[in-house]
Amino acid sequence: MSSEQSTSANAPARGARTRAARGASKPLGQWKVDGTEPLNANEQFKKESGGLEVRERIENIYAKEGFASIDPTDLHGRFRWWGLYTQRKPGIDGGRTATLEPHELEDEFFMLRVRIDGGQLTTEQLRVIGQISVDFGRGTADLTDRQNIQLHWIEVESMPEIWRRLESVGLGTTEACGDVPRVVLGSPVAGISEDELIDPTPQIEEITRRFIGDPELANLPRKFKSAITGHPSQDIVHEINDIAFVAVNHPEHGVGYDLWVGGALSTVPRLGERLGTWVAPDKVADVWHGVCQIFRDYGYRRLRNKARLKFLMGDWGPEKFRQVLETEYLGYALPDGPAPVRATGRGDHVGVHRQKDGRFYIGVTPVVGRVSGERLTELAEIIEEHGSTRLRTTPHQKLVILDIEEDRVEPLIARLDEIGLSARPSLIRRGTIACTGIEFCKLAIVDTKDTAMAAVADLEKRFAGEDLPAPMSLHINGCPNSCARIQTADIGLKGQLITDDDGNKVPGFQVHLGGGLASSDREEAGLGRTVRGLKVSADGIADYVERVSRRYADDRDGDE
Ligand code: SF4
Repeated sequence: MSSEQSTSANAPARGARTRAARGASKPLGQWKVDGTEPLNANEQFKKESGGLEVRERIENIYAKEGFASIDPTDLHGRFRWWGLYTQRKPGIDGGRTATLEPHELEDEFFMLRVRIDGGQLTTEQLRVIGQISVDFGRGTADLTDRQNIQLHWIEVESMPEIWRRLESVGLGTTEACGDVPRVVLGSPVAGISEDELIDPTPQIEEITRRFIGDPELANLPRKFKSAITGHPSQDIVHEINDIAFVAVNHPEHGVGYDLWVGGALSTVPRLGERLGTWVAPDKVADVWHGVCQIFRDYGYRRLRNKARLKFLMGDWGPEKFRQVLETEYLGYALPDGPAPVRATGRGDHVGVHRQKDGRFYIGVTPVVGRVSGERLTELAEIIEEHGSTRLRTTPHQKLVILDIEEDRVEPLIARLDEIGLSARPSLIRRGTIACTGIEFCKLAIVDTKDTAMAAVADLEKRFAGEDLPAPMSLHINGCPNSCARIQTADIGLKGQLITDDDGNKVPGFQVHLGGGLASSDREEAGLGRTVRGLKVSADGIADYVERVSRRYADDRDGDE
């Protein structure tokens, strides 16, 4: 996608957010412009005590004295810096989400996000996560669409032991949530794919080693999402990250990265923009640091819903952003660079693929990322029985198992099928992802995981023996936020209560249509459009998807 194309996709959002239109007289909370005086409650608590500092209190006070002893500001603020959110109390319907206070919605249990930078895991690490889930999380485990694994039902008393176990195998939860640099997405086939341009693992490792847990970067205006890929499928949804590096081959300088900045979804979606630079592999960490510092120093801190980096990019544009990066932070000019060529293949890596060393990697999919602690420990055993110790999580709620010898591929696929991980899934199962939803999320209005699993099962029956006419992405969110990237799917469903034919409020979804990113093998990335007034009930999803698919099959042009 060219810079021009990305600009045009973002044009309405930028026009709506000029500084003049918002009123230039009010300070925006930019530290370098307006000073560091906190302008909202979140900024205040971060100034008083940083999120990283709460770990000591969890270990020494809260884990010993229990949930009731937790300071409310730690509970609803700083805990996130260590991957902890309180989860939703069971039985509170979506109609009450907006009317209850946060403490009335929350349980005394936590969701815990385990950070997996680059999605790179060993079977030993997988077994540890699975056992933590069994021992402390009632066996729950979800693969997230940011390559993390999320557990539920965690009690604060368990956290010291959970950290001990995770850290003993090189994992952790540092800055898994909060106003910080979150997990760094990385190509799930880094270092093994036959056709990758460059292995981004050294860059991911340098960024995490130098900057994750750095107090200097632990108070950003909001979250800061990063992604790096060297694979031609552009498999890390780079257009919707605050910063992304996509491998390109520069005619003079060779293989390096094209730099993208300012992408994010939520309720005001915006695709990232190219700065038009080429970044040498050994400069990636420094450039990442520069962009992160710009966000810290110039990002907007007055209103939290206007704080993501995309709003600064919307006001500055890529030229000014690049100039500030080069002159104020790097101290040198970056070379101009080419745009990535069109992505090839689907970036979810499902199926069997040859590695550069002649062995194979196998991408498998559970339904909507749902697994369990028992399943993860079983999976570790199965992978080892088939001669490997490595796997990856993906930004598509899938798993990729590495280093399988040719004669073990089919036996492994058959064994994985037995535990619900399919290497040859139906197109609908392959293309469906769902966020956490009402089961655990305090912001949710409707259920997502069970609803999506039921719709996938129903559609697999309806299309038995024929499958969908073409790959289709179906992304399901439980509220207007966009944790499951609804604006980037062929069909995106945004959870809300809708009125049924009898006038009752029932769980349903607003439909968005026609979104997609480079990794879904589209000519150009684009955000889906809300189809005004088009809503489906939770139990009408299968009907709707079938109708759209069959109509598309009938009306499409050639092999469109
Ligand atoms: Fe929760 Fe809404 Fe995000 Fe889903 S989209 S996980 S319901 S905040």
